[in-house]
Amino acid sequence: MLSDRIQPDIDCGLTSNTETTIPFGSAFAFSLETATTVGYGLPGSSNAFFEGCPELQICIFFQMLFSLFFNAFLFAFFFARLSRAETRGIQVLFSSKAIIKKVGKQWEIEIRCYDCDSKHPLVESHVRFYAVKRNSTLGDGASFERMRTNRPDDDYGAVLFTSLPCNVSHDIDDFSPVLPPHLRKTKESDFMLKDHGLENREADSRVGNRDGLQCLACGETYGSWENLVRHVKYSRIVEKNDGYEKQNGCLRHLDLDIDGGHPERTEVVSERPAYEEFEKYFRSEGIEILAVLEAIDPLMSGTFQALQSYTIEDISFGGDFQNCIKRGKKSNAFEVDFGKFHGITNEGGEGGGATNML
Ligand SMILES: [Zn+2]
Repeated sequence: MLSDRIQPDIDCGLTSNTETTIPFGSAFAFSLETATTVGYGLPGSSNAFFEGCPELQICIFFQMLFSLFFNAFLFAFFFARLSRAETRGIQVLFSSKAIIKKVGKQWEIEIRCYDCDSKHPLVESHVRFYAVKRNSTLGDGASFERMRTNRPDDDYGAVLFTSLPCNVSHDIDDFSPVLPPHLRKTKESDFMLKDHGLENREADSRVGNRDGLQCLACGETYGSWENLVRHVKYSRIVEKNDGYEKQNGCLRHLDLDIDGGHPERTEVVSERPAYEEFEKYFRSEGIEILAVLEAIDPLMSGTFQALQSYTIEDISFGGDFQNCIKRGKKSNAFEVDFGKFHGITNEGGEGGGATNML
């Protein structure tokens, strides 16, 4: 309407009567037409190119630019609302308890997770653990540390098949942030290589992926204690036969104490039962273990996270998760028994409880 009034003596074709300016109704209809099409039927005359009215061309240009942006915004907005997947995490179940238990000589913490909507299996489902220390005595009073997962192996991305209940575990080894510091073997053994800030796992050394032990005499590194002992014993024979003398304080293999320095010794290092050691440490540091499961929803291709946290009240010492998968009666398909999903067998028994020492 403003553009039409700038040059009242020129006929732009917006009205049939050149004496009058365009009324609001016609201007609104013209604006709508501009936003939706570029093929004009003008309210007035037949000239749709407005050669004499540059102000009208500018006006139409901005009207079209605005409508393009408006369409793009609406499309993006509705698509984003429809495709968001964060509520998909509701269908991922975590066990109500985490289990701390001893498997062989190794302490580990284990949880269980499952995606209820197994008809639409999650894509790229993977899991991570974090230890949140609310009253950490080290640092500024709170810390957030990553915990490596052993099963599934985080070296391979810790991917899961969540359409069946699967257990996730972290070894509470010497590098674990939830191991009470006074129980760390690296404090007691000079043979173990320090982490130097890396998030290591003892299991990597045991299977030969990384050498975690070092011979103090010659500097050779080994993955397992057994191999290091073999090396020291053999070198002792060589040194004995060759008549090696100790010179300038240099260590010989004959001088190494491989019995007292055993980094994998399993004898009791605490008078307290294991669960008391862990409970005391978890309470004093305010430790909360955070399990994060990330996956892609296969229907809308949206990424989502499901979170669960475990404090000392949510931890069971010893036991195993009950088997909750069974064969269906009618079909041969697997069925998940939700009644047993959170169940723990032999709680407080082997690998936990009051009688099990560290
Ligand atoms: Zn050596």
